[in-house]
Amino acid sequence: MNNPDRPAAPPAPASMETAGSSSHPERRYLLERIGEAAVAQVYADGFRALPRRDKLLIWHLSQAAVAGRDIYYDQRYAHNLEMRDVLETIVTYAAGVDGLPLDAIVAYTKLFWINTGPYNNLTSRKFVLACEPAELLAAMHAAAARGGRFPLRPGESIDGLAGRLAPLFFDRSVDPLVTNKTPADGGDILQSSANNLYHGVSMADLAGFEERFPLNSRLARRDGRLVEEVYRVGGLYSRYIERIVEHLERARPYATTATAAALDALIRFYRTGDNRDRRAYDIAWVADRDSPVDTINGFIEVYLDARGRKGAWEALVYYVNPEKTAAIRRIAEHAQWFEDHMPWDPKYRKPRVTGVTACAIDVVIETGDAGPMTPVGINLPNDQEIRELHGSKSVSLSNVSDAYERSTPLEFRTEFAWDDEEVNRAVKWAGFAAELTTNLHEVIGHGSGLVADSLMVTPEAALKEQFSTIEEARADLVALYFVADPYLAELGLIPAAQQDEMVRAEYEAYARNALVQLRRIREGSQIEEDHMRNRQLIVHWLLANTDALQVARREGKTYYRVRDVAAFRSGVARLLGEVQRVKGEGEYDAARSLVETYGVYFDAALRDEIVARVERLHLPSYTAFVMPRLQPVTDAGGEVVDVELSYPMDLTAQMLEYSAASRDLRTV
Ligand SMILES: [Zn+2]
Repeated sequence: MNNPDRPAAPPAPASMETAGSSSHPERRYLLERIGEAAVAQVYADGFRALPRRDKLLIWHLSQAAVAGRDIYYDQRYAHNLEMRDVLETIVTYAAGVDGLPLDAIVAYTKLFWINTGPYNNLTSRKFVLACEPAELLAAMHAAAARGGRFPLRPGESIDGLAGRLAPLFFDRSVDPLVTNKTPADGGDILQSSANNLYHGVSMADLAGFEERFPLNSRLARRDGRLVEEVYRVGGLYSRYIERIVEHLERARPYATTATAAALDALIRFYRTGDNRDRRAYDIAWVADRDSPVDTINGFIEVYLDARGRKGAWEALVYYVNPEKTAAIRRIAEHAQWFEDHMPWDPKYRKPRVTGVTACAIDVVIETGDAGPMTPVGINLPNDQEIRELHGSKSVSLSNVSDAYERSTPLEFRTEFAWDDEEVNRAVKWAGFAAELTTNLHEVIGHGSGLVADSLMVTPEAALKEQFSTIEEARADLVALYFVADPYLAELGLIPAAQQDEMVRAEYEAYARNALVQLRRIREGSQIEEDHMRNRQLIVHWLLANTDALQVARREGKTYYRVRDVAAFRSGVARLLGEVQRVKGEGEYDAARSLVETYGVYFDAALRDEIVARVERLHLPSYTAFVMPRLQPVTDAGGEVVDVELSYPMDLTAQMLEYSAASRDLRTV
């Protein structure tokens, strides 16, 4: 599972600067804007201080991450690699040619890299090249004249290639959606999804067919028969997987015992593709809890598949951020104190709390399904049985969140804050406060609370479709309540003298977000997504039942202002008591009434106002990230003896470098 909430769209309690991180004020985070996308640089400050052994481990794991990148391109769309070749050849060879209008092609190419193909990551919809087919052809000829080579089929001319690919680049109605879970015409979910996880297969074909490799195979119809084309050495994507294995083997000598055991299990799984080996790998990966460097590499998340079974390939390499992990662990160690002080009926308090295992990490590279657009949190493995028997590992991607916060335009705050004081507080505190409340939400919020003995089913079963909103509201309320508790200063998480200001900034950000998030729902006047519902619920409940907040208007613009911080907190405590009771007793009607009264419906005219304000300021709707660049240092014998890290500050350079690294594996 991953938590895509922040990079996909600006955050709930958004912010721009974190209080504790003014050491690099001159740094550039936002690199460029392309359409509705922003591109930001990720920094990995802790890398230089790592022992050489860890750096060498990271180097080889990163090579493995680059080696598999094209697998995900191919999984996402069967034509992706061919299209990318054409675009990259133009960008490399035709750039700067006089009289060639390349702007549209360059912009499209960047969006293509960011989204790994011509489909928007958030909406699943195809985007097209905004120039004439003749202009693309002219650019191809210009590139060819300067030595650029195109993926021509035997006997094919450049004109022939351009004509063949034209529908893919220019026609929105050809393969319109990469994943389509609810075809409007009642069509087949596999046939109407353009991804390459299936070939010539419909849901009806699957009746009575038992998959031996549900996660790591493409299902294809060959000669009238259904076959599983297994992703493994000797199977589909063999050349890429062999290269991955090669790098994992080189990484192994630098790994801790626990990491080496996990790498061995992963290599074995890549060789056999067998589900038992996948389980063994999951177990070994979860058991490796204390190593300073870790990797995720394989067929993991299933969001790309309309059926939710096939794993999309991804890789991450990261090291633990000890400072930020210490903050999470300090909270986790005192979980019992928080439980004992929950502002709800003592009968819902747990007598014994077991803390959550979580790490804050800094990524060095993310590829495939994990980059250039990335989650901010990951909790794996996905196999429910292994989670219950062996536990799971949860990581929050600190340097990604940081780059995201710092690349967020200041206008996100100035436009929706009432006055300069509120803006200044947001700039100073919102990043820090967002991190602290997120930790409280995850580590204390979700794990807290007991249900009544009389509740005979799980709360999920009792509250049905209302459960997720209630549970997310509960975790948010726990965070909003404790963020203002003096105990946090006692734990050393915030200087006591600054806590009041930080709390006000957090409450203001939370209130503003209820307005700003409306921009995401451009049609209708109803919210479906659970996190959005819970945030509306809390703010609108406070508006209706306390003196904490006030709706203010000025020059045709609407603002949610925090009027009284103490009233905000006591309102949060009151609502939290009720929400816990509703969950603890499994009261479906009360849950539904809370959610429908405060969380679901909004005023369409207000939404139109917010959308207009956001559009006038040209604010991005998602952000992609440029990773650090690693450079090996070799000795006289060519052996890698050290690794240097730098920042490319350039999406194009990084994407071309990654693509070049696996060009020899292509079998075009
Ligand atoms: Zn949550």
